[in-house]
Amino acid sequence: MKVSELGEFPLIDILAGMVEESRNDSMPAWQNLIVGIGDDCAAWRVEPDHVQIGKIDALFENIHFKLDTATWRELGWKVLAINMSDIAAAGGMPRYALVNLALPPDTEVENIKDLYRGMLELAGKFGVAIAGGNISRAGEVSIVLSLTGVAREGRLLSRSVARPGHQIAVTGSLGGSAGGLRLLSQNLDLDIAARDSLRTAFMTPFPRVAESLLLVESGVRCCIDISDGLVQDMGHICEQSGVRGRIHVDRVPRHPAITANFPMDSVLMALSGGEDYELLFTASPETMAKVNRALTCPVTVIGEIVEGAGVELLDSRGRVFTLPQTGWDHFKAGRRTTK
Ligand SMILES: [Mg+2]
Repeated sequence: MKVSELGEFPLIDILAGMVEESRNDSMPAWQNLIVGIGDDCAAWRVEPDHVQIGKIDALFENIHFKLDTATWRELGWKVLAINMSDIAAAGGMPRYALVNLALPPDTEVENIKDLYRGMLELAGKFGVAIAGGNISRAGEVSIVLSLTGVAREGRLLSRSVARPGHQIAVTGSLGGSAGGLRLLSQNLDLDIAARDSLRTAFMTPFPRVAESLLLVESGVRCCIDISDGLVQDMGHICEQSGVRGRIHVDRVPRHPAITANFPMDSVLMALSGGEDYELLFTASPETMAKVNRALTCPVTVIGEIVEGAGVELLDSRGRVFTLPQTGWDHFKAGRRTTK
């Protein structure tokens, strides 16, 4: 059945029913929700001793995804994951999501249910409540999601507190998402394990929410998530902190499937591919030792903060490494050239 045959309000009823079924009253978001889907506004109680944080991000058809390569379930997961990653980058715990869908009238109802299945699957892992939304007609699919979170005051992570003497570290490995994009857009014939892991990295990244809380507890205060690419996101930290970031290129952990399948490009993909949704953070060596004990995911020190400005890349012999591209820019055609 098409959404135009079902109509807006029955569709909302179906989605509200799915959300209600996913309800988990053991989680703070559900306990504090006063009004959920169905009224003019959602309402929830503010948690004492916490500050509220919020984020909005979107996936647009033919800009961020194509319906012949992405599944609806993946899109639902991803739109929530990319918002959660920003909440994690701020050191917060995700709580409430508001979803705005714009759909062509001939969209299948079952596809929208799949979208919600993907979203609810990830929401359930962190107790996020889908508290409301809006549906309208459009020529192409757009999925906009805003997400609130809470953090303890004085413990927010930010981009502006990197200091000379800090080490620079990253969780997980990089470049997998760029590999996934290449896999899907060029329809490459890789072995099944590589296809699966690259597709997962690109379409259903797992946000580092749990790791972020451990970073906060370990004493980390400077963090960003890698959405635009390592070098570009490091640039944001350097600019806002007024420091220089020195990255040793050979220490940057590359996703194993890109090292195996794109050996010539894997360094570039890890440095500037973007959308990896790993956490990039800086801290003193003492704090970094605590981080290494606290986190179970890989944490790799890739460089250090020094006096100065900008990002400096060094190869294994300590020579300056020049990068042809730094990362994603929404308003320029494709990738941006280094200054
Ligand atoms: Mg971010």
